[in-house]
Amino acid sequence: MSALEASTFDCAIVGAGPAGCSAASWLAQLGHKVALIERAPRLCAGLEDFDFPQSWLLGARGESLSALGARYAAQVEAQAGVQVFKNLQPATIERQDGLWHLDGLTARALLIATGLRPRHPAALFPACDKVLDALTLTARREQLLPGPVLLLGGGDNAVENALFLAERGHQVTIWSRSAWRAQAQFVKRLEHDARIERRPATPLPSSVQADGSVHSQAYGDEHFDYVAVLLGYEPNPEAWSMATAGLPPLQAFADEPRHALFVAGDVSSRQHPCVQTALADGVVAAKRIEALLAGFARGELPQHHRQQVIHITGLRFGANLGILDFEREGPQPIQVDAEVNLGAQAMVSSDSDIGHVLDYRRIRQIIIDECTASHTDLLEALVAKLCTRLMKLPGAVGVRIKVNKLEIFPDCQVAISAETGNW
Ligand SMILES: Cc1cc2nc3c(=O)[nH]c(=O)nc-3n(C[C@H](O)[C@H](O)[C@H](O)COP(=O)(O)OP(=O)(O)OC[C@H]3O[C@@H](n4cnc5c(N)ncnc54)[C@H](O)[C@@H]3O)c2cc1C
Repeated sequence: MSALEASTFDCAIVGAGPAGCSAASWLAQLGHKVALIERAPRLCAGLEDFDFPQSWLLGARGESLSALGARYAAQVEAQAGVQVFKNLQPATIERQDGLWHLDGLTARALLIATGLRPRHPAALFPACDKVLDALTLTARREQLLPGPVLLLGGGDNAVENALFLAERGHQVTIWSRSAWRAQAQFVKRLEHDARIERRPATPLPSSVQADGSVHSQAYGDEHFDYVAVLLGYEPNPEAWSMATAGLPPLQAFADEPRHALFVAGDVSSRQHPCVQTALADGVVAAKRIEALLAGFARGELPQHHRQQVIHITGLRFGANLGILDFEREGPQPIQVDAEVNLGAQAMVSSDSDIGHVLDYRRIRQIIIDECTASHTDLLEALVAKLCTRLMKLPGAVGVRIKVNKLEIFPDCQVAISAETGNW
């Protein structure tokens, strides 16, 4: 990176798969200057070995992911406003003085879009060409010479490959530590395929050697020409770990607008990772980054969701409440805690006129009035009444209420809380 010209980008994007490319393209179209950083020699490198026809992407049935990836890459590379850095895996990612520093490059916002990597425990995955993971198996499965193949895993990837390899004349064994987790259509085909040896719900081998020998308690020593370890995926962690190392503890793989840090695509551990969701995620991230950059331009500091909440805590007074005889005799002491969410807005109002902001004195008075106006039998009803009343306040998008009966029992307090609206 030392050869790079030092300059500040609006956004640095680490990872140029569909998510990173989509975000880069959108940010550039929104007028921002983007650094798109990819450790591989090509953009969308993760797709280049997938030359089988895919059916997931609406409007692109039958097209291969490698062809789609090449098109995304060509478009982004030609996009004004996007500077592409290939063969580059940042060695340092740090936040200092309100900017992100990636080796010699600086940016106002950072987007991590580094995708997933296959999960493979070290004991089952010696470095050699006989032991494959999901990526190398997909790239090489048509060239493997027929022979005994062991697939470790019970999800879509393992079952689909078992069916594919059996069809091509391999002696396939599929071995899963749990019951089959693949789609029902795959499992049905698997269970009717006499060519495949099935080992569901069986503890996995304790070791796999580079020559293809496998040891397990259940089957002793065995030998396979190839072993494929298909135990799922996990987020590529390097960039995220570096970016968050110096920050307060953050929830893994979630956006942190306070630190101008965003994630998109498979790395954000989404429900269904695929090209379509990654592209969409890139757009959403770009729009969120755009909002942040627009805030910078107005001189505002980034805030977490820019959400403002009024808290009233420990408000104590007497209320006519309860169904027990002694509760009907007169008011009893209660304590109310309330939060009123005012949603996304400037953290400091530019207008000093109190009439333009919600007055917390009003919230306090509403709580007292609602609780003392008449007798309420049930605590639940009182909590619901407070939520409904406070939600009617101008600007309120969410309300949380907790009402505590302080003296109902000598040895404990009783409280009920409720939440309504958006949080
Ligand atoms: C075997 C297989 C088959 C699939 N089949 C389909 C299908 O048919 N249809 C479909 O829609 N989806 C399919 N998918 C899923 C699809 O490929 C992914 O969901 C999609 O590529 C995710 O895009 P992404 O941008 O989030 O991540 P990726 O495409 O993984 O891109 C992440 C990029 O970040 C780079 N990177 C990682 N770490 C760093 C770093 N530290 N510094 C710099 N760069 C870094 C990587 O090199 C990579 O280019 C398949 C996936 C697999 C594994």
